[in-house]
Amino acid sequence: MEELLRRSEKLTTVGQLAAGVAHEIRNPLTTLRGFLQLQQESGKLNLRHNDIMLAELDRINLIVSEFLILAKPQAARYEVKDVRFVLGDVISLLDSEGHLKNAIFHTRFIHEPCLISCEENQLKQVFINIIKNAIEAMPQGGNVYFDIERPSADSFTICITDEGVGIPEDIIPRIGDPFFTAKETGTGLGIMVSQRIIQSHKGTMHISSKLGEGTSITLVLPAFVEKIG
Ligand code: ADP
Ligand code: MG
Repeated sequence: MEELLRRSEKLTTVGQLAAGVAHEIRNPLTTLRGFLQLQQESGKLNLRHNDIMLAELDRINLIVSEFLILAKPQAARYEVKDVRFVLGDVISLLDSEGHLKNAIFHTRFIHEPCLISCEENQLKQVFINIIKNAIEAMPQGGNVYFDIERPSADSFTICITDEGVGIPEDIIPRIGDPFFTAKETGTGLGIMVSQRIIQSHKGTMHISSKLGEGTSITLVLPAFVEKIG
C-alpha cells in the first residue's frame, strides 16, 4: 500500500512539482543574496565568495533547464524513427565527453529496422540523462554497453549498462523521486524527467543495479506497426 501511494505520488502533475523546484532554487538564491550583501557591506570583492556564487548560479540554471524539458507546452510532435539512429546520435554527441572520462562505449544493436513513434528530442534527452549518469557512476572509467533488442513483434528493449558504483538496494525505489540525488551537485531530476518522457511514449523504464558492479537501465518502447487499411 505504501508502495502504491509512493508511486501515485510520483505521478503528480508538473504544476505540483513547481513547488519543489521553487524550494530547490530558493536555497542557492539565499546563498547568493548573503554573499552579495557581504560584499556590499565590506565594499570588497571576495574571489572565493564569487566562485561560490557562480557555482550557485550554475546550479539554478541546471535545475531550471532540466525542469523546462517537462514544463514545455505539450506540442510534442511524434514521428516514426529508427531508435538505433536516435540513440546512435546521442552516443556520438557524448563520445568525446565519455573519452575524457575513460568511458568506453559499445553498441550492440540488432540488424533490422527498429521503428518507433517518438518525439525525437525528448527521447534524446532520456538517453542523455541515462548516459550521463552512467559516466558519472564510473569515476575511474569503464565500459558502457548499449543493447537494442526486439523481444516481441510489438516492442523494443533498449538497455544501457555501466560498470559503475551501482546503487544500494534500499535506495533503488527512491531513484526517480523528484530531487532525489546521491551526488554533491546533482539535481535529482534526470531520472524523473526521463520516466515521464518514457511514460508519455507508452513505454516503461526499469532499473537494476548491483553495488560495486554496475547499473542497467532498461527501456521498453512499443514498436511502430503500420496500420493496414
Ligand atoms: P542526478 O544525476 O542529478 O543525481 P538523476 O535523477 O539522474 O539525478 O539520478 C538520481 C540518482 O540515481 C543519482 O544521484 C544516483 O544516486 C542514482 N543513479 C542514477 N543512475 C545511476 C547509475 N548509472 N549508477 C549509479 N547510480 C545511479
Ligand atoms: Mg543524472
